[in-house]
Parts: sequence; C-alpha cells; structure tokens
Amino acid sequence: MGRVYNFSAGPAVLPEEVLQEAAAEMMDYKGSGMSVMEMSHRSKWFDDIIKEAEKDLRDLMNIPDNYKVLFLQGGASQQFSAIPMNLMKNGVADFIVTGQWAKKAYEEAGKYGKAVKIASSEDKTFSYIPDCSDLPIDDDADYVYICENNTIYGTKFKTLPNTKGKTLVADVSSCFLSEPHDVEKYGIIYGGVQKNIGPAGVVISIIREDLITDDVLPGTPTMLKFKTQADKDSLYNTPPCYGIYICGKVFKWLKKQGGLAAMKELNEKKAKILYDFLDESKMFKGTVVKEDRSLMNAPFVTGDKDLDAKFVKEATAAGFVNLKGHRSVGGMRASIYNAMPMEGVEKLVAFMRRFEEENL
Ligand SMILES: *Cc1c(COP(=O)(O)O)cnc(C)c1O
Repeated sequence: MGRVYNFSAGPAVLPEEVLQEAAAEMMDYKGSGMSVMEMSHRSKWFDDIIKEAEKDLRDLMNIPDNYKVLFLQGGASQQFSAIPMNLMKNGVADFIVTGQWAKKAYEEAGKYGKAVKIASSEDKTFSYIPDCSDLPIDDDADYVYICENNTIYGTKFKTLPNTKGKTLVADVSSCFLSEPHDVEKYGIIYGGVQKNIGPAGVVISIIREDLITDDVLPGTPTMLKFKTQADKDSLYNTPPCYGIYICGKVFKWLKKQGGLAAMKELNEKKAKILYDFLDESKMFKGTVVKEDRSLMNAPFVTGDKDLDAKFVKEATAAGFVNLKGHRSVGGMRASIYNAMPMEGVEKLVAFMRRFEEENL
C-alpha cells in the first residue's frame, strides 16, 4: 500500500518532503556517521539542530525577545499541572471551558488552587465558543486559560477573550502554526506538536519572561519548573532530540511555503472546500455553529450511526483514513492540518459526494 490521506487528529500527517529528508539522513546525519537518534544531546550537531529550530520558530511566529521558547516533554497534558504550579501566585485561575482539553486543564488546576469556570459551552456539547467580551474575571486571577482550537469538537476562538488585563494562557496544540499568532497577547502559548507540527513527544511552550520565576508552588518538581528549563535552554536533561529535529525540518518547510500568513490562506481554502460541501449536502452535516468553525478539525455526522460506520469503512478502503470521530462525539471528523494537501480535501469531498449519491 502506498501513502494514504491521513485525517487523524493526532499524531497526524507530516509533510512528505520532511519525511523523505529525515529518511535520507537516517544512517549518517551530515557526516556524523550516525543518526540524530543516536547522538548526544550535548554534541555540536544537536546544538545546531535545537538552536536553528528555535531561530526558525522565532522567525515564523515573530516571537518577541522577552519570550522564552521551551522544548519540553510530558505532552500538553503535563502542562495542565505545570502551568498552575508556576503561575498561581494568588492561587486563583479562570477557565473558559470549551471542550475536553480545557476541562481537563481546569480540573487539574483545581488540585493546586482555586480554578474558576467563568464560561463554558458544555450546555450544547461544546458546539460553539461562548461570548468572551465581558466575563466575570476574578480580581485576583493569576491568569485566564483557554484552549484556542478544540480538537475534538472542531471549534476555534476567532477573537481572543477580553481578559481585563489578566495574563492569557492558551493551549494551541491543534492550531499551532496554522495561522499567525500575535504572541504578545499571551503570557503562555503552548502545545503538543503531534497535531500540526511534528512527532509525539515534544511540547513547545512560549512563555513571557516575567512568568518564569523561582516563586513556584511548594513541591513543584524540578522538571516542571519553567525556570529550570529556561535557564538551561531546554537542555536541563535529555530533551526529545529526534522530535525536535523533525520539528526543525517542519519549520523550514513552513518558511518555504511562505510562512504562517500563506498557511492561513491555504488552510482557509482547504476548510472552505469541506465546509461548503457540508452546507450543501443532504446527508452530511457539520456539528458546529458556522462562525466558530475550526480550520483544522471538522466534525460531521449523517445522523445515522450505521451510515456513519459504513462511510468510515468505505472511506478507509478508498485510502481516506482516520475519519472516525472522537469516541465522545461519534460521527466523523476530518483533521486537515498544514501537511494535508489541498488535493486530499478535494478527493475526500469527491468521495463524500459519490457516497451520498449512492446511499441517499
Ligand atoms: C491532543 C491535545 C491535548 C493532549 O495532548 P497530549 O500531548 O496527548 O497530552 C491537549 N490539548 C489539545 C488542544 C489537544 O488537541
């Protein structure tokens, strides 16, 4: 079997060029006589890899000098604890709960202080983003937390919440580098890379320097203290070297595509093909209110479980894989990250059209 069109929500599709380059360098990275997997994280080769990755990411995202870029482990989920441990000086954080990941972060933060749910869209199965223009932000909140793109439900904050001057912390795991982010609007912008950037095992966290201090909650593990990682440029211990190397290649690939503004344009075009079809289809329906639709994750249903299953089965056989929706939502979900080519979406829609004709 050749390459499929992989619509997985994560780990997810990567650019073929990047995979081919990595394959070509597998046995002998730049004359080192070894793979990047085999080399010391203190070697000159790896030092160049991590420094160049950071530089390219800074270029792509236009990251201001007063922000640190950390390459971490533990998944986005570990940040659900690390963030309160480092930021809860007053012991209070406000959460906008727009899906499972925001909810998990909210529940985890509650172990370390007072986590306040100031808005939620759970009343309608997280199918929309609440109005966040005038929320009851706590006076002593250390930060306001969002999950910017909701991977499972397919919603996205199109405007950031009004935090009334409080620090904004955002999990951008599933929209990282899908469009430009204005880093200055965030105290922390972070995500696991396995959705839209690289292989599982790396978390990138971009943190404003004043939030990196020794004043952390008692008992904070050394490894989870931002200052430990920042002081050592993400090399306090062995970092996820191979993952960082692949991320670096993806950053270069993104630069070659024209950067994040160009990616946004392309992602809008790709998503429009799918959403336009969902809007006109008599069989398939999107599950999210139109104005909050994600460019990256598009859930949809037929309204009939058996038909959903038949669709997923036939799509898989035709080379469109991982379209089954998250177990908590059912139906289907097409994740169309940066590395999903336009033709992948076009062919999927053509397949859906044919399926509809044959089954309606
Ligand atoms: C996948 C995902 C997570 C969890 O990531 P892990 O790296 O598996 O911990 C958290 N937040 C969002 C938005 C995600 O999509």
